[in-house]
Amino acid sequence: MAKYELNKNRKIESNDMEGQNLSDKKTYSTWENIKYIISHSWKYDKSIFGLFCIFTILTGVFPFIGILFPKYILDELTGSQDKNRLILLLVSFFFSSAVIGYFVTFIKNSYLPKMIDIRFQFIHMLSIKCMTTDYKNTEEPSFLNSVETAFRALQSNTNGLEGILHKLFSLGGNIIVLIGYMLIIGKLNIFILLYLIANVSLVYYFTFSVKKYEYNQADELSDIDRHSKYSYDLMYNFAYGKDMRIYSLTDWIGNLFQKFKKQRFDIEKKIKYKYFGVGVREVILLLIREGIVYAYLIYLVLNKGLSIGSFTMYFAAIASFASAMKVIMDDMAHIRAQSLYVSDFRVFMDRKEEKEPAHPRRLPEGPYEIEFKNVTFRYPGSEKYVYKDISFHIKPGQKLAIVGHNGAGKTTFVKLLCRMYEPESGEILLNGINIQEFSKRDYYTLFSAVFQEIKTLAFSVAENIAVSEGAIKEDKVLQCLDKADMKKKVLEQKNGIYTGMQKILDDEGVEFSGGETQRIILARALYKDAGIVILDEPTAALDAIAERSIYEKFNEMVEGKTSIFISHRLASTSFCDVIAMFEEGQLIEYGTHEELLAKNEKYAEMFQVQAQYYKEDEVAVTVDKVTGGQLQYD
Ligand code: ADP
Repeated sequence: MAKYELNKNRKIESNDMEGQNLSDKKTYSTWENIKYIISHSWKYDKSIFGLFCIFTILTGVFPFIGILFPKYILDELTGSQDKNRLILLLVSFFFSSAVIGYFVTFIKNSYLPKMIDIRFQFIHMLSIKCMTTDYKNTEEPSFLNSVETAFRALQSNTNGLEGILHKLFSLGGNIIVLIGYMLIIGKLNIFILLYLIANVSLVYYFTFSVKKYEYNQADELSDIDRHSKYSYDLMYNFAYGKDMRIYSLTDWIGNLFQKFKKQRFDIEKKIKYKYFGVGVREVILLLIREGIVYAYLIYLVLNKGLSIGSFTMYFAAIASFASAMKVIMDDMAHIRAQSLYVSDFRVFMDRKEEKEPAHPRRLPEGPYEIEFKNVTFRYPGSEKYVYKDISFHIKPGQKLAIVGHNGAGKTTFVKLLCRMYEPESGEILLNGINIQEFSKRDYYTLFSAVFQEIKTLAFSVAENIAVSEGAIKEDKVLQCLDKADMKKKVLEQKNGIYTGMQKILDDEGVEFSGGETQRIILARALYKDAGIVILDEPTAALDAIAERSIYEKFNEMVEGKTSIFISHRLASTSFCDVIAMFEEGQLIEYGTHEELLAKNEKYAEMFQVQAQYYKEDEVAVTVDKVTGGQLQYD
């Protein structure tokens, strides 16, 4: 099982409380993040700023009603006892409380959905980044972890980005309230005020240090969550149903899930204990604070003639001051702590993608000629080279077969050609132009590709086929289905080409068989009708004969287009104009099927072994060993 190593560098330096600069990682200060959130929110929904102003004024005034009115009512009761004035004071007290209270609730209910909406705009930004990031990132565990971490800033109403927005909203009113209390208490005794500030600041310091600790667990939690999510998804993925039962995976996967949950629970427990510790210290500080301040107030009443009305006002102001200041301190600690998550989100969004050319070249007209010129490549973080100084040519309209054992580098060839990765050195040329000179978006339009992993979307057959275009051309869909031998089967369904694939979104959806799904994917490639066609072993689930028949059929369908056929079954690709055989990062043989058989080296050897195997498998295959070499089927 994976070991979870904390990225120690990510921890905040303890003396760096202001800027929260992480030791070696680009990050943003709280202030920068606040500006970032505000500017984006302004872009998404300006109306919340109007609500903010009204809310700030109302919440800034509201608490003073509960402090000032009782003082005047008590002074009236213990003083002149004028009934009219008393009634006026009481009516004003209740009326203003009710009206302001109503509007505060009303505005709160108005801005809450708006904030959720703003958060969803950020989620949209993150989703777009995930869908468009360089493909190579999607195969990197560190990238996958950083997606989890970035998402932490967006996954709840109370934390991360929306959490900050909420706190900013209430902060304005609370600051007005605090200033009001400070004026009242400052009038009583400036030292009492300073003492209260020092006392509450200490509470703030304790709270922030726990939040900082919580943040420092985020990397480890991301890693655990990624693993636990994977095992959770496995348990609900019925595609593994057979393996689960036959290989008794149930206990293994179930225990794995429990184990990850336990790891998470242990970390959460430690965090909760720390919060509990802060709570205890806070209560002790509160007792000391209240004891000193109230003893002083009672002393003033007994010895300095402080009125009961004023006593009540100061009593309420001091109690409320401490809680208002605590709310502000807590909110600030929350904003600072959540800002760390927003930083992670921004760092993720800032992640550099491969540079696109400043002035991309226009795509040339087909037919397309492809050249690999001294290409050397290894995967990021890998020591082992997949290709070393490989060169070869695919002529316009030529059909190239790439063959070799598993792990020889066949799929990597497709990834390089499709610009999912860039070569470490050397060039890939399209009609003589380095493919890096085109914009990726344009360049991708050149390919109709069918990859190894057959991925259909849980939409209709027609949508699966026409996926690259907005409006569906039904005639063209039917034509492509016909060519792929699937028209009859699809039209037999109640909803024809609008039959849902899978039942996830459509109760009437159909689960097509593996072979049928592959044909629909082939129809998709035909529908796109791009200039270069790639077939990367999409037939792994089929037997050799079915694979060969699909390849040959596809060969007819893409006549005249530059095409690349990949297979480890040599018989499937023997019809191609030219065959490139890879082994351990080297292009070991290159030529027509006949030439390679005549050479009688690795290709011929592999071909004969495979032909023998199919014979033994009672597939009626006859091989003309060296000359024609085409397989024939009875
Ligand atoms: P083939 O398609 O011929 O089976 P691949 O092109 O998939 O082979 O793989 C070639 C080599 O590159 C193999 O050694 C494989 O382990 C390695 N490889 C493939 N993908 C990655 C990756 N994302 N990261 C690191 N190594 C990889």
